[in-house]
Amino acid sequence: MRKVVLITGSTRGIGRAIALKYAQMDYDIIINGLHSVDALHALKDEITVTYQVNCLAYVTDVANYQKVEEMFKDIYSHYESIDVVINNAGTAHIGLFTDLTEDEWDSIMNINLKSIYNVCKQAIPAMVRQQRGNIINISSMWGITGASCEVAYSASKGAVNSLTKALAKELAPSHIRVNAIAPGVIKTDMNKWLDDTEMRALKEEIPMGRFGHPEEVADCCYYLSSKDSSYLTGQIITLDGGMI
Ligand code: NAP
Repeated sequence: MRKVVLITGSTRGIGRAIALKYAQMDYDIIINGLHSVDALHALKDEITVTYQVNCLAYVTDVANYQKVEEMFKDIYSHYESIDVVINNAGTAHIGLFTDLTEDEWDSIMNINLKSIYNVCKQAIPAMVRQQRGNIINISSMWGITGASCEVAYSASKGAVNSLTKALAKELAPSHIRVNAIAPGVIKTDMNKWLDDTEMRALKEEIPMGRFGHPEEVADCCYYLSSKDSSYLTGQIITLDGGMI
């Protein structure tokens, strides 16, 4: 039996790269998205054809508890448990805190933070029964330092970091590890609003002089779920080319 990995928000960017990495490593893959339905199905085809592993694809809003419950009901008709859960779905919002509406605040918190509650609530009982599992949360360096004009985003990712540390302590006796990756600037659609001048200025702040690649986040994820990191839990791995 192959191991199984679930990656939320895997239609593009970091999530997509993670899905392809685990497919390459012979995992069965569960992918998810909300708006990019065609991209989700194209990725499913790519995974099954190129890597010859099984792939389930769910169009599910991970911010919605009921929808996540429905998704897991179907997942558990295929698998007893999930070996690796990667909470990657996320959204960013740039703007002054004083302009941020209550709806925008709620939406950011629901997508970036509550989704992790929704997914973990469904995934953990089966992992505890199996006495094994790995949870990886994709956070952000801004959750550590805070970013001007990204207050809600920073707050949501700061909470993801605390959740990671607390949940790791709670689940360690059940042999389940919980870690987070806090990426710096990674070249995805999330940063496509930056113009060339802003890109150049941002790069100058990065000691390695470049943005990260989604594949580098995927490699780090794989390491965190592998035996090579078997004593590592409750950690927030900053992956930022030395930026903070
Ligand atoms: P991205 O290219 O914007 O992709 C976001 C992904 O999340 C998409 O697949 C999107 O799917 C999915 N998603 C959003 N809301 C969802 C929802 N409610 N339900 C299900 N899926 C949802 O972003 P990315 O750069 O790859 O970011 C991935 C993660 O890394 C995020 O948590 C982000 O905060 C974090 N991160 C990114 C950077 C960076 O520089 N890129 C830096 C630090 C941290 P649909 O399109 O189908 O809706």
